[in-house]
Amino acid sequence: VFHSTPFAPPDAIFALTAGYQADPFDKKVNLGVGAYRDNNGKPFVLPVVRKAKQILANDDSLDHEYLPIGGLPAFTNATGKLIFGADSPAIKEGRVVSIQTISGTGANHYGAEFLARFYEPFKGKSQAEKVIYVSNPTWANHKAIFSSCGLTPVDYPYYDPATIGLALPKFLDFLRTAPAQSVFLLHACAHNPTGVDPTREQWEEIAAIFKEKGHFAFFDCAYQGFASGDLDNDAWAVRYFVSQSIPLLVCQSYAKNAGLYGERIGALNLVASHAGEGEGGAARLRSQLLVLQRQEISNPPTFGARIVGMILNDDDMFEQWKGDIKTMAHRIIAMREKLHDLLVNTYKTPAPGPNGWDHVVKQIGMFTFTGLNPEQCKAMVERGHVYMTGNGRISMAGLNESNVEYVAECFDKAIRG
Ligand code: PMP
Repeated sequence: VFHSTPFAPPDAIFALTAGYQADPFDKKVNLGVGAYRDNNGKPFVLPVVRKAKQILANDDSLDHEYLPIGGLPAFTNATGKLIFGADSPAIKEGRVVSIQTISGTGANHYGAEFLARFYEPFKGKSQAEKVIYVSNPTWANHKAIFSSCGLTPVDYPYYDPATIGLALPKFLDFLRTAPAQSVFLLHACAHNPTGVDPTREQWEEIAAIFKEKGHFAFFDCAYQGFASGDLDNDAWAVRYFVSQSIPLLVCQSYAKNAGLYGERIGALNLVASHAGEGEGGAARLRSQLLVLQRQEISNPPTFGARIVGMILNDDDMFEQWKGDIKTMAHRIIAMREKLHDLLVNTYKTPAPGPNGWDHVVKQIGMFTFTGLNPEQCKAMVERGHVYMTGNGRISMAGLNESNVEYVAECFDKAIRG
């Protein structure tokens, strides 16, 4: 009964990791997958997470019952404050509806399904007409998720390969000419895969057009804290959009900033027009999110929610978490500086763009879009045993004091051919 099932292609990133694992070369480096590694190339359990786990392990009152459908209240009551700010008007007025999700992926999934079902301008439209504009390029899974949830992803210009930077004029033009009330996916900070974020002034220009055209902002925030090392700083764009009363939702993931990749803890936050039960009110939106959750997973998982809930609600642990985030973000920034220095001063490697290797230090977050062409990327993998995707993206978290010189040498060889 399944004889015509076609083979689906393997996931590119996970296939790359498999290639890395099978490689016997002793200096091999994995710059593919977007997971933080410490200076010894090892996964990092945040000290604050270790502490939370110990507290949980010693708490005999905890049981293994189902969570409420919407998630663990200690988590869902606090997660919105982290992204919007405790003094956000949306939070104070009770207009934020937060539901616990299967990490950022689950949040994107529900965000898309919610829009497909309830976004007014989509009423009576076919899937082909329910368009969500996504940055070109974007996280590889966005398009797959959105298509599977009843939306149609369409690219908007974002990255300019000529400058290895933001294609701002084209992006602004696109926003201006898109139909009113269009839905745009925005990466809240640390854009994946390019590491290219708008500056605050550029965000203001972008927001002004959203406001004028009534566009809806679908914020995906998978790296809060990872971009600058500061949670509030990285939430700036979202908070600015809220201050401008732009309609929006925010997907959150705690995979990267809490190092909880496998625990699958995240949240979807909708901002309602009022807190009540009437039309457009938070209570109605919440009731429909609970329906989505029930159909999909019945109840969300407990462990990650307990850890993050504890950290968000305890002042001392929250401070410790901020320190742990700084440790990760600053190590990545130090690696940017080191790689830049090696390419510019040691190897004097010809740069792929007009601004030298500045993009290595200017780009933000876990990834750098190096500007290497597919052939050069292939040489990095096949000759250097440095595993990276064919689009030129490298995960900075895979670099450390022991391998950065070797990686720079491979860059030099790949570019000089
Ligand atoms: N959005 C973006 C932009 C991402 O980079 C990622 C992780 N790579 C996610 C969402 C989702 O990750 P997770 O489901 O592990 O939280």
